[in-house]
Amino acid sequence: MSFSKLGLRAEILRSISEQGYDTPTPIQTKAIPLVLDGCDLMAAAQTGTGKTAGFTLPILELLSSRNGDLSLTRFKPRALILTPTRELAVQVHESVRTYGKHLSLRSAAIYGGVGLGPQAKALRAGMDILVATPGRLLDHVKQRSADLSGIEVLVLDEADRMLDMGFLPDIRKILALMPKQKQSLMFSATFSEEIRVLAAGFLRDPISIEVAKRNAPADAVKHSVYRVDRVKKRDLLIKLIEDHGWHQVLVFARTKHGADALSERLNKAGIRSAALHGNKTQGARQRALEDFKRNKVTVLVATDIAARGIDIDQLPHVINFELPNVAEDYVHRIGRTGRAGASGEAISLVCVDEHRLLRDIERLLKRELEKKVLPGFEPDPGIRAEPIANGRRSDSKSSSHGAGQRSGQRPAGAGRTAAPRRNSTSQHPSGSRHY
Ligand code: AMP
Repeated sequence: MSFSKLGLRAEILRSISEQGYDTPTPIQTKAIPLVLDGCDLMAAAQTGTGKTAGFTLPILELLSSRNGDLSLTRFKPRALILTPTRELAVQVHESVRTYGKHLSLRSAAIYGGVGLGPQAKALRAGMDILVATPGRLLDHVKQRSADLSGIEVLVLDEADRMLDMGFLPDIRKILALMPKQKQSLMFSATFSEEIRVLAAGFLRDPISIEVAKRNAPADAVKHSVYRVDRVKKRDLLIKLIEDHGWHQVLVFARTKHGADALSERLNKAGIRSAALHGNKTQGARQRALEDFKRNKVTVLVATDIAARGIDIDQLPHVINFELPNVAEDYVHRIGRTGRAGASGEAISLVCVDEHRLLRDIERLLKRELEKKVLPGFEPDPGIRAEPIANGRRSDSKSSSHGAGQRSGQRPAGAGRTAAPRRNSTSQHPSGSRHY
């Protein structure tokens, strides 16, 4: 299958080939023709499957082909893409711009954490495609800077994550502001009862499509575990990076404070590093991500929440400086490597405190991970395990997780994981067509 068979115009095909993509991914092959046909979709696809282009490309095509009366459409957006996080909004908007760069459609992204003023100005200037997080979009609706009455296509991206983050009331309010007659697409990694109820409420005779996660941990990713003492982890990390000459490494830390401290230590050792976590301003987070993507920094130290949804092409190495509190988060973390067909490596630095967490992860993956010890970093058998309170060692104040999350538990409905797919995609809203 080639992109040229999917019904996209030459300008779009040109930007696809400029991106270096020659073959559509399975979700793109399934979704693009259906969206072009005007169908409502309920798509089970995770980050890494190419889902963003799966909805962005046909939306660009549809809006270009219906360019219509510009005087009517000038100020009101015609397509709305809702995302759960600011980072995802920025990335989706980047995709819209990349794939639409040879078209004359206008787009904007609006999200919280930055001033309302410039966004209101952009909204008033008018656009075709709006990418937004729900809360900030409603702020603009209240201020009368956003008008959703001209929406022709709606996308709910990462719908399960949106519900996890408590956006359901906001989504309902936003749905009420849009015309009933529109095309709606919902993308979600999992299909809980709550998601199905939401879908049944706004999708019209939806077609369900699903694709397997492209890089399940078992195939594209090589896992290894270095056993090491807690106090030697930083030095081991530096040694591994230096010995292997790694140039783009995503490191997971459990807390914001830990991420900052580690990033500082790496910088002192001459390894360019930045921290990415929720206490950073939006500007600082975006800068860190951009610098990482452009190889200006070698190591990005992130907390689980901050790393969610970040899209970096073919990230070669993911390192768990500390294991996550919840085994499913390991799968989530390593989903950042080995994407879009590339192979990746997931390395965990595990001290005696974390043996139980490691066993939980192995149980979830249904296999033992390879254990290594680097000479000079042999664990001292005399060191006793210290408890990890609430998933963290003793310091119970700062957490990379939201309130209400206790050790080993996830908030209800959480768990956008590859394995196990608890709420399988066979449960679709009644009446949905399944492809
Ligand atoms: P997504 O699932 O939308 O987050 O996309 C995952 C990654 O796959 C992104 O970095 C895209 O740039 C990349 N990608 C999307 N479509 C293709 C394609 N057809 N061929 C190769 N890479 C792709």
